[in-house]
Amino acid sequence: MKVFKFGGASIQSVERITRVGDILQSYPGEKILVIISAMGKTTNALEKVVDAFFEGRREDALKLFGQVKDAHLNTLKYLVTVNWQAAENRLKEFFTEVEWLLHDQPVREYDYYYDQVVCCGELLSTSLVSDYLNERKIANQWIDVRDIVRTDDNFRDAYINWNYTEQKVISDIGPLFATTDLVITQGFIGSTDENESTTLGREGSDFSAAIFANILDAESQTIWKDVEGVMNADPKEFPEAQYIDALSYREVVEMAYYGAQVIHPKTIKPLENKGIPLHVKCFLKPDLPGTVISGRPVHDLPPIIVLKKDQVLMQLSSRDFSFVEEKPISRLHELFAQIKIRPNLSQNGAISLSCVLDDKAEKIDKLASAASEIFDVQIERNLTLLTIRHYTPESIQRLTGGKEIVLEQRTPETIQVLMR
Ligand code: ASP
Ligand code: MG
Repeated sequence: MKVFKFGGASIQSVERITRVGDILQSYPGEKILVIISAMGKTTNALEKVVDAFFEGRREDALKLFGQVKDAHLNTLKYLVTVNWQAAENRLKEFFTEVEWLLHDQPVREYDYYYDQVVCCGELLSTSLVSDYLNERKIANQWIDVRDIVRTDDNFRDAYINWNYTEQKVISDIGPLFATTDLVITQGFIGSTDENESTTLGREGSDFSAAIFANILDAESQTIWKDVEGVMNADPKEFPEAQYIDALSYREVVEMAYYGAQVIHPKTIKPLENKGIPLHVKCFLKPDLPGTVISGRPVHDLPPIIVLKKDQVLMQLSSRDFSFVEEKPISRLHELFAQIKIRPNLSQNGAISLSCVLDDKAEKIDKLASAASEIFDVQIERNLTLLTIRHYTPESIQRLTGGKEIVLEQRTPETIQVLMR
């Protein structure tokens, strides 16, 4: 059995949805669990609906939701004709659920409403694609993943109840493959034991797919994207960026840690635990091999470059020239946890400590004011943090040339340079 995940870009238009059908058809006789994201930018659009609702702008919320509805209804019209009415009715049931909610007054916390509304993006897209595939005689079974994936009620960043979910996948999903080759379901969403919808954090579908791959002992997981594979740098910043054929799980976790936006970082562990290879392939050019991520160590990697802009350097110095010791440091770590901010780089000296953070203004202000109770705090903004894994003298030279270096930290594998 295989697990496929199609991202929002792969179903953003009628033409692209037909390609998804072509790809699935090119695996005849294979058992595949298919996870599909919300269409295109639907998740962002639904976030705006929630904002309007929560700010008491009901008309706006309904209007914005109307746009999401129209986009789905129009797409459906092009893709499904014979069973169009039944397919439309299915979409309408999801619309109604959201509209009921939008007619209420918000009385609970924002994150709760977020999940109840935003989850419909994947319910709509999967329902639509499933009906389209059936119309094309690509038999499949659609599943509401909220009956399978159980989470806690930490809305917007819900935590999986692994035992419950595992039992449900084994009892309810496994047997479906006796009568169908394709099971279509949603990533990114789940539900609590009170039947409230939850989401697992933005871009969470990769992780959902890995949960299924792990529990079903899949032979592989494939993430279908609009790029040909994982690259060693962002091609928008570095035109010389190149594709990488193979990476280790470890390398991908490291890349994510330093801020490369390749794959949702939680995705790797469930796959690594069972040695399931992860393929990143291009839905526009499915014949290309893409990138494979597995337990095999990979040597001779090119320098892998991550550039983070809008960085803040916060310098914390002890007031009385005393060493910065355990107590103030652990207090600082408490503050990071409370404010939910993680330094991208930190360096300790005798009487001062530097950390480099993303410039999320509100969080930086909070942190600076709390830290100023123990330290003298100095802040510098508008810096760039460059990370190079598998650096070479040439790559350092090329990427830092002409820049003023503020801070540097290196291990045998990785160099981080903060530049002005
Ligand atoms: N649709 C969700 C998002 O855009 C989840 C995902 O695509 O992974 O964040
Ligand atoms: Mg996505």
